[in-house]
Amino acid sequence: RAKSAGGNRFETADAEADARAITRHGLTNALPAALERNEFFIEYQPLVHLGDGSVHGAEALVRWCHPQHGVLGPDRFIPLAEHTGLIVPLGRWVLEESVRQARFWQKRHSDGGPLRINVNLSPMQLHHPGLVSDTVDVLERAGLEPGALCLEVTESALIGADDDLLKPLRQLAEMGVDIALDDFGTGYSNLANLRRLPVSVLKLDRSFTQSMQQHPADAVDLKIVEGIVSLAHSLKLAVTVEGVETGAQAAQLRELGCDTAQGWYYARPGAPDRIHTLLLADAV
Ligand code: C2E
Ligand code: MG
Ligand code: MG
Ligand code: MG
Repeated sequence: RAKSAGGNRFETADAEADARAITRHGLTNALPAALERNEFFIEYQPLVHLGDGSVHGAEALVRWCHPQHGVLGPDRFIPLAEHTGLIVPLGRWVLEESVRQARFWQKRHSDGGPLRINVNLSPMQLHHPGLVSDTVDVLERAGLEPGALCLEVTESALIGADDDLLKPLRQLAEMGVDIALDDFGTGYSNLANLRRLPVSVLKLDRSFTQSMQQHPADAVDLKIVEGIVSLAHSLKLAVTVEGVETGAQAAQLRELGCDTAQGWYYARPGAPDRIHTLLLADAV
């Protein structure tokens, strides 16, 4: 990188980089104790049928209530936890807690149809040999049927995945657990590759939804979404869209044939009580 003319700016940039590295280091070191002290909590964001606005489930999104830095989003600490391996016990905690929560909602809304819970998995969890047995264990203890759980894996985590990596996902899928391909469209996976993966849901990345906001909507992205939806449906996959922020986007995506949606237009991620309230209300 070229040195900037003003030496000061360069030093400032260096100092900022140092400060960030120090924070990263501090956060990384604090992770294990944070897990023991229960500093993590989960917010839930409803998943909504595009057709009628009814809530059919929620995605669990982890946060860290840090004693000095306040509430930190997952982008600040999941990569650190992934790097140190702490993601395995942290991920297990998220799974256990959110599955228990989902069972609780189900019990209180027995007439509300099948309520589902989506949980994110990071690449290291996929490689961990305990994934299948831990998941079975968590479901059994909570009394949740496997069909109510959806595990979200990013497209990039599965790029070039060999059979060893896919085996646990296949086992889970055979038990009835849904596997979703998260942030779909941001990786470079071969679409034909989809047939090989044990996935039943595509979660279309937020960037596609955002392009719907342009007036007129970006024609190329419209065509791409249309293509993805028809491909997905021909492979019997459901399509969920992320990041729906406006009614216009929701209408457009409904028109394009997407099945379910998630986004601020419906609800921001929030406390479990919020989902309870939305379930009582029938629709968002
Ligand atoms: P993701 O799985 O793609 O989750 C969706 C992200 O989009 C969430 O960010 C959510 O708050 C945000 N979002 C939802 N609706 C809207 C909207 O309408 N507009 C905009 N601009 N954003 C919206 P969040 O909670 O910061 O999570 C970021 C990522 O962290 C997640 O992306 C997921 O990859 C990861 N993550 C979250 N919880 C966990 C976890 O328990 N385990 C693992 N391994 N990863 C997690
Ligand atoms: Mg996700
Ligand atoms: Mg996503
Ligand atoms: Mg995303």
